[in-house]
Amino acid sequence: MITDIVEMGEQTKLQGQVVVLGSGIAGAEVATYLARHGREVILVESGREQFDPSIQALNDVIFLGKRHRELDPDSYYHRYLPPELRGVSRVRQFGGTSNVWTGKWKYLQPLDFEGRPWVANSGWPIHFADLLEHYRSAAKDYGFGDLEAEAVRPEIMELRAKLAAGGLKMSSFYWEQTPTRTAIRFGDEMRRSKNLHVVLGATATELRLNDSCQRVTAVVCRSLEGRELIVEGDVIIIATGAFEAARLLLASNRQIPSGIGNAHDLVGRFYTDHPKHHTGTLQPGSLTRQYAHELQYAPKPRFCICFALDDATQREQELLEHVLYLKPIYEKSRDRLWRTLRFRPACRDGNGSVATYRVKFVTEQVPHQSSRIKLGTECDPLGQRKLEVDWCFTDQDQRSMAKTLQLLTQRFAEVGLGTFDFGDDPPRLETMTDAAHQMGTTRMASRPEEGVVDTDCRVFGTDNLYVASSAVFPTGPSYSPTFTILALARRLGQHLLQTSKILQI
Ligand SMILES: Cc1cc2nc3c(=O)[nH]c(=O)nc-3n(C[C@H](O)[C@H](O)[C@H](O)COP(=O)(O)OP(=O)(O)OC[C@H]3O[C@@H](n4cnc5c(N)ncnc54)[C@H](O)[C@@H]3O)c2cc1C
Repeated sequence: MITDIVEMGEQTKLQGQVVVLGSGIAGAEVATYLARHGREVILVESGREQFDPSIQALNDVIFLGKRHRELDPDSYYHRYLPPELRGVSRVRQFGGTSNVWTGKWKYLQPLDFEGRPWVANSGWPIHFADLLEHYRSAAKDYGFGDLEAEAVRPEIMELRAKLAAGGLKMSSFYWEQTPTRTAIRFGDEMRRSKNLHVVLGATATELRLNDSCQRVTAVVCRSLEGRELIVEGDVIIIATGAFEAARLLLASNRQIPSGIGNAHDLVGRFYTDHPKHHTGTLQPGSLTRQYAHELQYAPKPRFCICFALDDATQREQELLEHVLYLKPIYEKSRDRLWRTLRFRPACRDGNGSVATYRVKFVTEQVPHQSSRIKLGTECDPLGQRKLEVDWCFTDQDQRSMAKTLQLLTQRFAEVGLGTFDFGDDPPRLETMTDAAHQMGTTRMASRPEEGVVDTDCRVFGTDNLYVASSAVFPTGPSYSPTFTILALARRLGQHLLQTSKILQI
């Protein structure tokens, strides 16, 4: 059933076995999974079915460090979105940020989970193998093609070998034709479900604890219309995205002044994103011409590839993972004439003759304590303290990017991928934007001294509070975090069914 907080009449309290906060990909996935397995689930969502700017404004933050991209109705990159949403980094609406995302699904690579001695605070306390069955089952249920089989197609193997000989590597991702929108994927099921109750227009503003401060007993929810709702449950799952997850833990400070899960002052710290830059072009070389069909962006759905320096170079040079995406830009008659006059061979893929490739350069950043979000002093219309975002970088980030760019330029030319032209705007952190991939604000660790959630995504110091979000990523070297968010949400659902005594039926 889906209701709105303003339709609940005199009812001011709801009770379920599981309370899920947020209806994005993470929240919708874990809520429907548990409801399908017979658990009584209440899903609390701040937004409504229609986008509402006054609810979206609850996401407003104050930037202390590097700013996020800004709303830009003329944005070239988000032309698929209505003008008022171009440049948005997260969305408060039923279905969350999936309402606007692009639909690229990518595994983290096995090595992404391992610690790299030259990257401080890197490595996960779980391994790729812990997520593989969830990646696989999600790919099947969501109808993605077979990413694993695709990666060993003869053409891809050949290309991989040629790149490897030149000190480069590639990885692949699946790009949906119509990006999954959770409100569409799960809306009917939620409406029909007898044991899943979705409450829209309800913003969780506080978690209440029992006397020993180890169990969350209730979630206080408020609406812009002045309604209040108390939702009680045995298990609480925060799936409000990386910023709002940390905000809720910090704002729940009535019983523990530093906030829940914050005994070691780690909530909100280690915030990372994937800074990105996309003003460059690549003039295709012979290898690109040979494999141009593998670099097409259309028709979708399709498997796409992206490039990076190989692992050995990253290790030797102590570099981060910086990845290049190439988007074909097709010839117009003027380009064709220009090419013919210079006796340049055509670069043809299944869609036409490629004039050039637009280059997107995206970077990992070193996770470090001072890149953080924290509660500020200004309040939002619900009386909640707004977040202050201090997104900042280390010298290693700068060094790593400059060296990588130099090596990529050299190696792309050597293997025949082509030559870059960044004009007077080479990738520099100062001019790069966020990628709307907020990560790390409640990072996963084996010990409470090192993180906020344990390997089951349970908040340290609590018995029944979990986080389903990229907030738990200790590092996110690979671009496109959402497949891993989904895999972690499915893993959490399975974990709760298998281990939680209170959820046994
Ligand atoms: C334009 C764009 C393109 C993108 N493209 C890609 C891509 O191609 N591939 C990729 O991997 N990633 C992409 N991303 C990132 C991706 O969209 C996110 O990683 C993903 O959607 C996050 O899902 P989530 O469920 O964790 O959070 P969200 O989808 O943000 O969901 C959080 C939900 O919680 C609700 N909420 C917030 N606070 C509260 C509260 N206090 N109480 C109740 N509810 C609350 C929100 O309204 C929202 O519905 C893109 C992002 C953007 C903006």
